Amino acid sequence: MKKALITGITGQDGSYLTELLLEKGYEVHGIIRRASSFNTGRLEHLFQPESHLPSKNLHLHYGDLMDSVALVKLLYELKPDEVYNLGAQSHVRVSFDVPESTGDIVGLGTQRILEAIRETGLVGKVRFYQASSSEMFGKVQAVPQIETTPFWPRSPYACAKVYGHWLTVNYRESYGLHASSGILFNHESPRRGETFVTRKITRAATRIKMGLQDKLYLGNMDAKRDWGYAKDYVEMMWMMLQQDEPDDYVIATNETHSVKEFVQETFGILGLDWEKHVSYDARYERPAEVDLLIGDPAKARKKLGWEPKVKFKELVKIMVDADLKLAAHELAVKNATASV
Ligand code: NDP
Ligand code: GDP
Repeated sequence: MKKALITGITGQDGSYLTELLLEKGYEVHGIIRRASSFNTGRLEHLFQPESHLPSKNLHLHYGDLMDSVALVKLLYELKPDEVYNLGAQSHVRVSFDVPESTGDIVGLGTQRILEAIRETGLVGKVRFYQASSSEMFGKVQAVPQIETTPFWPRSPYACAKVYGHWLTVNYRESYGLHASSGILFNHESPRRGETFVTRKITRAATRIKMGLQDKLYLGNMDAKRDWGYAKDYVEMMWMMLQQDEPDDYVIATNETHSVKEFVQETFGILGLDWEKHVSYDARYERPAEVDLLIGDPAKARKKLGWEPKVKFKELVKIMVDADLKLAAHELAVKNATASV
């Protein structure tokens, strides 16, 4: 049985990757942070009796990307075959408010886990995946972006990701570590954090539909992103580690849409007039913006045989359907409590 260790297991991608690896018969270990409130909500269903996946093969350990000793101890103890480094303070806007801790987790955190692999003598045994980001292209130097497009990061988050990316390349070149970096463009799902723009839109629009709120406040609606489906993308993380040779890959849909188009599509599905409900709020602007991202995944297509299955319209529909159910549940709870 193969053993995988995932940092960021409680996040959007961590939860989908866990499902994929359990389905493939892996023993999955994940690092979770101690928090004062519940942070394992995205994994909860796996521990329910009706789950078809073997939760006995899923193990959660306390740890932190800011705690080298904990990382070394876990690697000594587990000696995993594969390490997926997904842990991050992953919000670009927030990274301007907390640049130091973002750099610590995203940049130095990658350094810590790579060095822990070396310290524990696992370089020849373990395969490593680094969650790099299209945000590294920032002020884009070419359209579409590919693996060799120069980086121009536009936020503390993106700068830290560039550091993590090059460290991954460096450990591959210096020590022969099987280390691959996935330069993933934005990917979304019903499990996306609610402060990222797509989920913020689908949550608000479905709540508006149910009469639970009236307004949605957004920042720059002209920004364009290449949005894919998280479930499609985690498959690529696994595929990269199954290759004989480690490498770096752009993972994207090769389509770009503006935030405004995302709003229009969402409100359109729900039969709502978006202009009646959406207002501008400067608080959601960033000090430096990434205006346009569009990736060309030709290398992944050629070398890994990968094609994104879900494109823009289907993605919006998946998210709207899921959030409509959530809003209906919220409304039912509200009505029930009102009548008590
Ligand atoms: P999420 O924000 O949903 O999840 C981030 C995860 O990192 C959570 O499990 C979080 O734990 C954990 N984490 C935060 N701080 C620490 C820390 N100090 N030590 C250990 N773990 C920590 O992100 P996604 O799942 O969307 O993304 C996964 C990775 O891919 C991230 O590295 C992200 O930056 C990167 N990425 C994401 C893209 C996207 O569009 N989703 C695009 C390109 C790259 P907790 O639950 O306790 O907060
Ligand atoms: P990012 O690409 O990783 O920064 O993902 P986000 O989902 O956070 O943001 C995508 C784009 O939406 C960025 O260009 C933001 O400036 C823009 N945007 C506009 N309004 C909002 C908002 O209210 N929240 C967020 N998160 N982004 C917004």
